[in-house]
Amino acid sequence: MTDDTRDLGLTLLTILGLAVAMVSRFAMPLPEVLVSGALILAYLAGGVPAGIEALKELLGKFRLDIDLLMVVAALAAASVGAVLEGAVLLALFSLSGTLEHRALGKARRAVEALMALRPETALRVVAGRVEEVAVRDLAPGDHVVLRPGARVPVDGVLSEGVGEIDESTITGESVPVAKEPGSKLHEATVNLNAVLTMEVSRTLDQSTVARMIALVTEAQGMKAPSERFSDWFGQRYTVAVLVGSVTAFLVMLWMGIPQAQALYQAATLLVAASPCAVVISVPAAILSALSVAARGGVLFKGGAALERLAEVKTFAFDKTGTLTTGRAEVTSVVALEGDASSFLPLLAGIEAHSEHPIAGAIRREMTKRGLTAAVVNDVVTSPSEGITGADAEGQLWAGNPRMVARMGAALDHVTLTEMASGSHTVVYFGRGPRLLGAIAVADQPRATSQAGIAALRRDGISQIVMMTGDRRPVALRIAQTLGITEAEVHADMLPQDKVMLVDELARVTKVAFVGDGVNDAAALARADVGIAMGAAGSEVALQAADVALLSEDMQRLAAAHRLARRTMRIIRQNLTFAIGAMVVLVTGGLFFHLPLPLAVIGHEGGTLLVVLNGLRLLVDPIRTT
Ligand code: ADP
Ligand code: MG
Repeated sequence: MTDDTRDLGLTLLTILGLAVAMVSRFAMPLPEVLVSGALILAYLAGGVPAGIEALKELLGKFRLDIDLLMVVAALAAASVGAVLEGAVLLALFSLSGTLEHRALGKARRAVEALMALRPETALRVVAGRVEEVAVRDLAPGDHVVLRPGARVPVDGVLSEGVGEIDESTITGESVPVAKEPGSKLHEATVNLNAVLTMEVSRTLDQSTVARMIALVTEAQGMKAPSERFSDWFGQRYTVAVLVGSVTAFLVMLWMGIPQAQALYQAATLLVAASPCAVVISVPAAILSALSVAARGGVLFKGGAALERLAEVKTFAFDKTGTLTTGRAEVTSVVALEGDASSFLPLLAGIEAHSEHPIAGAIRREMTKRGLTAAVVNDVVTSPSEGITGADAEGQLWAGNPRMVARMGAALDHVTLTEMASGSHTVVYFGRGPRLLGAIAVADQPRATSQAGIAALRRDGISQIVMMTGDRRPVALRIAQTLGITEAEVHADMLPQDKVMLVDELARVTKVAFVGDGVNDAAALARADVGIAMGAAGSEVALQAADVALLSEDMQRLAAAHRLARRTMRIIRQNLTFAIGAMVVLVTGGLFFHLPLPLAVIGHEGGTLLVVLNGLRLLVDPIRTT
């Protein structure tokens, strides 16, 4: 039996006991034994679990929590003859606790459900033969056959076959994604229609699901400031309420009020002043929000990130692989010595070691031309510049004009000048100080980038910024199609330039940076909210970010921003309401002889309302607009 079903069972028992007692009191009198039994049931089912929790906190961590207040209040009520009121208190407390736990568990369960989707075994190809092995024994470099309908066992790269994959488990996106050799495959997604072979790139405990679980677990440690407020408040306030009620009781005795009445008044005060609603206000909203977001493919590393996102006024985007698909295509090839087939294999040889979208474009071009990559060693990447390596004949390199300059090569070639004046990304390739040729690569904006940016602007984002290591003409071509103005485009940036610009923007407003690459990690970390393209992006970017966008749908980003703002609004409503209700009840308890039943209903009703208000967020999934 899970904790959840046990909680629910106990809550139902408590309510059942209460219901029997209520019927007897208000509708038709039932036999005394039955009513007593029902009340005892309600007290045991509702009070014992809370009592145990409270004792654990008290003895284990020397913390007083609200469970203790509730149990004490119910017992105090019972001791002054208000047995039914005590039962109402316990039943409603138990109910709001169960609802709260449901909300809290949801985000975790969304991810745990993924674990259930992992296949146990995979078909590994060894020396042309297929054998069934346990998924945890797969190692990077292994080849695995995926039959139609099979789940991808670990993260990998498609090596043979063309087909469609349903990635909805990971990204929340129901449209199948077309895959061809070189495409990344994610664990727990489903191969729909073709027989595919993939090369394993990560072991099971480093694959997508394990990483998502790590993100969510890590998230629980990172509480939002408002969550910390309600924790802190709950702690201090619980002590104050206990001490206050006992003091009130003693004062009333001293004033000559009869003991039974003093106890009744003190119990009423205790119930009226209990901060349950205040304490639950924040987590009920935050956890609901984190859970809807996760279902829509947006993973927050905790409530703190959600809270900061709500305040963001400036969104800065990386271009390549973020606003664009990162599935670039080679559009032209210029060889300065010999022909394309003599330098492309060398270029592909260095890029074989790169995760950059440009490298993918080159790999696809090689397949198209039926060429195979040469062997290149000692490969080193320089983010936003290019890549270097060496073969038997010496050093090789590829990159942008900065790389060309670093290698001491000259760019004074007519065809190359022409190429560079176009709006495609040009990658120069050479050996030592000799320039051997260049390729032009064109990348397309993601289908959802324009709508996503438009949605952000509609939602009141005052500033959109595009940052790229690419050249300005290329950046402008993309910006134009996305509704980003020339003034908002920053090109030719090194990784540190991105950090500096984020820094500068962050001095004025809260800034979110959205990026995918290794070269974005520092900017992601510096931004108030770093958002990484989770499924398509690099591991480093994911580490540095506060939010992972597993769905590639940019409109989800705007939806997540709206969700964050809505969450903060609900938290403000909840806190205002909860604190207000408490003030009213305490005033009533202190000065106006508030009857205990009213205190119970006001207090627990308020708590329930606040939880339900938070759960409202669960109803509205984050979908596009
Ligand atoms: P963005 O900032 O838009 O994501 P990058 O910083 O990743 O772009 O890349 C900027 C430029 O650096 C590219 O346009 C390319 O000229 C060069 N570059 C980066 N990585 C490579 C690579 N692996 N091979 C060739 N050129 C590269
Ligand atoms: Mg990038």
